[in-house]
Amino acid sequence: MLIPRPASPAAPPVLYCGPTPESQAQVPPIRLLPETTVNRIAAGEVIERPAAAVKELVENALDAGATRIAVRLEGGGIERIEVIDNGAGIPEAELPLAVQRHATSKLADAQLVEIATLGFRGEALPSLGAAGRLTLTSRPAAAPHAATIRVEGGAVSDVMPAAGAPGTRAELRDLFFATPARRKFLKQPRTEAEHAEAALRRLAFAAPATAFLLEIDGRTVLDLPAQDRAARVAALLGADAAAALIAVDAARDGMRLSGFIANPAITRTTTAGQSFVVNARPVADPVLRTALRVAFRDVIAFGRHAVAALYLDLPAAEVDVNVHPAKTELRFRDAAGVRSLVIGTLGRALAGGAGSAVPAPRAMLAPPRPSYAPSYQWGARPPAPASSHAGWGVAEADGPVVLDLDAAPAARRLPTPAPPEADHPLGAPVAQVLDTYVIAVAADGSLVLVDQHAAHERLTHEALRTQMLAGGIARQALLLPAIVDLPAMDAARLLDHAADLAQLGLEIEAFGPGAIAVRALPAALGAPDPAPLLRDIADELAESGHALSLDARLDAIIARLACHGSIRAGRRLNAAEMDALLRQMEATPRAATCSHGRPTFLRLSRADIETLFGRR
Ligand code: ADP
Ligand code: MG
Repeated sequence: MLIPRPASPAAPPVLYCGPTPESQAQVPPIRLLPETTVNRIAAGEVIERPAAAVKELVENALDAGATRIAVRLEGGGIERIEVIDNGAGIPEAELPLAVQRHATSKLADAQLVEIATLGFRGEALPSLGAAGRLTLTSRPAAAPHAATIRVEGGAVSDVMPAAGAPGTRAELRDLFFATPARRKFLKQPRTEAEHAEAALRRLAFAAPATAFLLEIDGRTVLDLPAQDRAARVAALLGADAAAALIAVDAARDGMRLSGFIANPAITRTTTAGQSFVVNARPVADPVLRTALRVAFRDVIAFGRHAVAALYLDLPAAEVDVNVHPAKTELRFRDAAGVRSLVIGTLGRALAGGAGSAVPAPRAMLAPPRPSYAPSYQWGARPPAPASSHAGWGVAEADGPVVLDLDAAPAARRLPTPAPPEADHPLGAPVAQVLDTYVIAVAADGSLVLVDQHAAHERLTHEALRTQMLAGGIARQALLLPAIVDLPAMDAARLLDHAADLAQLGLEIEAFGPGAIAVRALPAALGAPDPAPLLRDIADELAESGHALSLDARLDAIIARLACHGSIRAGRRLNAAEMDALLRQMEATPRAATCSHGRPTFLRLSRADIETLFGRR
């Protein structure tokens, strides 16, 4: 609250945005604000938009032990919000207290340090009643009937008997009718409804055992049954991510991190696919968000965001939730410990070789569209597969899948493919298509399609990184230095970073204006053409040179180096090379995606193929 003070002539000039000096001749005396005004101001802090009202009401329902919560919004929640629960209810005699400020049933002994419930300030209901027209109707299971109380713009009604099932129904109409200035800051109803839906989804992650229903203007937007956490996360994250979830679970120093991350082939353009729950409370916490980003840094493309639902449980005394009125921000006592638990746990989950911990990006399959999924058509029955394919499980006796590789000039079938072995999840190579993709078949009949460049790029990336962590990247000196001409800016930029690059096995020095002499290259790259390599690294430095930490910058350069040292698309591979590629992928961390975050392989299991053909 800005209280303008009269400026005496001797006083230094004061910057203020209140009335002009003349009008300050008659400053009103200091007085206490009426309680309704105080409540309206406080209300604005807690309830800044309909989503906040939804959050507070649903949290109350969860605190009351509800197993079913229905939320209905009209006009983006500005016109009307209704939240109905089947929780414990409020005894008739306590209704007036429930809507009074700082009245709560949840903070028994002023123990602000150990807070187990979602609400604890006793601020939400009075704030809602100050910001809009609140009707609270409630009935504990044992009560013979319900009772109702109304609060409009802060004015509290008498308690009246009412009809109603056990539980509580809160209805909030005309949000901010009493504070039109605040109402002006609201967005279009559609946007407000989206915020409210997002708030409800965050709570739904935190409370999978509770069923949620959300209706917006009469349309059902969310209908979640009571379910276990895995099912709830899958239901909320979207079909593509749901099909590619990796479970994580690790404990350390009394903390436990569990939940799910999506295969890094599934990413989003925003962080909207990330949800964090700390001690059953949905939070927007920068420590957790940053740790997630770091863990995914080099398995997803720059500018993309991981999909994850992570649950952190730790002793209540280790975390302060009393930082922000909306209670979504926290302060960890041991933020560094939390950070390293997240980065370490996710790093391990992502580090499985291709085909082991990380499932194939099955999710990229389009889900079958029922109207296009005909029951099996006899007329479409293909001829029986040639016997040479039968042993591979690619074609089934009555199945529609036939690989006729001999007929396609762009495909080369290996004359004598080795049989697939059970402990090779990526299978045995059977062919190369377009000189770019390797087709393999696994022992269980899954069909595996590998992008040879993307895959090899990751292998080179990991080899370089391992060498760097072990003390230095092995370099291969050139017999004659290669001279590369570059735009002067690029040359200067590279020379600025010559010391960093030398650590990576790339030795360069100035060679007259706009030219660079390359004396050594990382040995793992083979014999790449130095000119495009230097140009790419100059680009990388221009893009990320100052934005990233040294570590991140080196890793970004390693990714570029890896790209140049890898089998190109369009190179013909022999059987031994293909097999070596698959086996190395299985043994290499993070090998399910390339350094740019694209998938390195696709796997079609029998079930996937049946789904694609509408047989399931
Ligand atoms: P807080 O949740 O911080 O205690 P609120 O103003 O949100 O404060 O609620 C005040 C009190 O009203 C709660 O402590 C609780 O006892 C009661 N209450 C509110 N909503 C419900 C509900 N849906 N079911 C049962 N009790 C409720
Ligand atoms: Mg509350």
